[in-house]
Amino acid sequence: MQCMYQPDIEKMPRANMISLQNERLVKQVKHVWDNVRYYKDLMNEAGVTPDDIKSIEDLRKLPFLTKDNLRDAYPYGLLAVPVGDAVRIQSTSGTTGKRIVAFYTRQDIDIWDDCCARAIAAVGGTKNDVVQVAYGYGLFTGGFGAHQGAGLIGATVLPMSSGNTQRQIMLMRDLGATVLCCTPSYAAYLGEAIREAGIGPNELALRVGLFGAEPWTDGLRERLESSLGIDALDLFGIAEICGPGVAFECMAKHGMHVSEDHFAIEIVDPETGAPLSDGERGELVITTLAKEGMPLIRYRTRDLCSILPGPCPCGRTTRRISRLTGRTDDMIVVRGVNVFPTQIESVLAGIRGASPNYLIVVSRERSLDSLEVRIEITEELLADTVSSVERVANEISEKLKSVLNLSVRVRMVEPKEIPRFETGKARRVVDERGE
Ligand code: ZN
Repeated sequence: MQCMYQPDIEKMPRANMISLQNERLVKQVKHVWDNVRYYKDLMNEAGVTPDDIKSIEDLRKLPFLTKDNLRDAYPYGLLAVPVGDAVRIQSTSGTTGKRIVAFYTRQDIDIWDDCCARAIAAVGGTKNDVVQVAYGYGLFTGGFGAHQGAGLIGATVLPMSSGNTQRQIMLMRDLGATVLCCTPSYAAYLGEAIREAGIGPNELALRVGLFGAEPWTDGLRERLESSLGIDALDLFGIAEICGPGVAFECMAKHGMHVSEDHFAIEIVDPETGAPLSDGERGELVITTLAKEGMPLIRYRTRDLCSILPGPCPCGRTTRRISRLTGRTDDMIVVRGVNVFPTQIESVLAGIRGASPNYLIVVSRERSLDSLEVRIEITEELLADTVSSVERVANEISEKLKSVLNLSVRVRMVEPKEIPRFETGKARRVVDERGE
């Protein structure tokens, strides 16, 4: 069954969607030109004025906007309305450097709520659901986004925020939570804690999970689905634009539908910025189409994905992006080879006896990079013989070598040795090379 929160938009014929995008882009560009000095300067430098922008096809004439621009314009440089018209400030979860802040007007919040409501309705969410929000509430957008979207469809919201796992599990069971919203790494941790508490998936009413805010794999999806007894769906958002709801998976589980009435997407070569075709993997670039507070034009997200060609069986006509395969920031270069944590996660998911808890350690020995992957031994494997631990380690090492084209040292560690991430996003890479 496919439920839609705004079927008129979600199933809109392509031609109508494109003319809606054309109309909104022209307005959005005019809005930033008139109200944001920073943009006007960027556009002047690129030799483009609002008169050059007549349709979505003209998007490419506009200059890119990067995270550095956002940091540079901190705090008010990209604000397009009087401060008094902003009703909310959110911020990125980055831990290094200057923060990036985003401003929302009342209308911006309404749009964000609609997008999140679409995502929850797309997994069959209704007023009869109890939605447990285990994303953090605060400057991070996850908590508020899921909360607002669930509220809009009339569901009963359980605003847990992140952390406090024992309480999460108790209320999940006692109050019959049916929908879980959190990061995939926290979902994995919850699954583990639920099993350790001796609670079987059939003692929970949980039906579906909406997991986002970090790249994850189909392998992890399978694990989460079996450990929690749910359908696990991907959800995409970025704090600079609006949190969750920019794109979301439907029950077809094949790519995330972009809310194209509010966001225009492009995929570009991360090195050159040249546009790529549908199906080609590159950096996702997003243009907001109806933002008032802080519109972003051709914003380079650093997220890597592709546009999936062809229609979706769910009946939505909006284009889909693939799962994120990583962020340009997450990529590690080891002996000249590009490595993404998601590649390692995929390999682990395909091997019986390999735990999903891993840590990647890059170090340098006598000026040569070395890559070590630490993986926890599962309880099942621990109960088995030493030789089976070695066998699994060898299998992982061989698979990683063939996927990455690199020799990888695999170290099996005790259960619970790898740090868990009860709050925020998982950190999978430790780089000890100290450039
Ligand atoms: Zn679909």
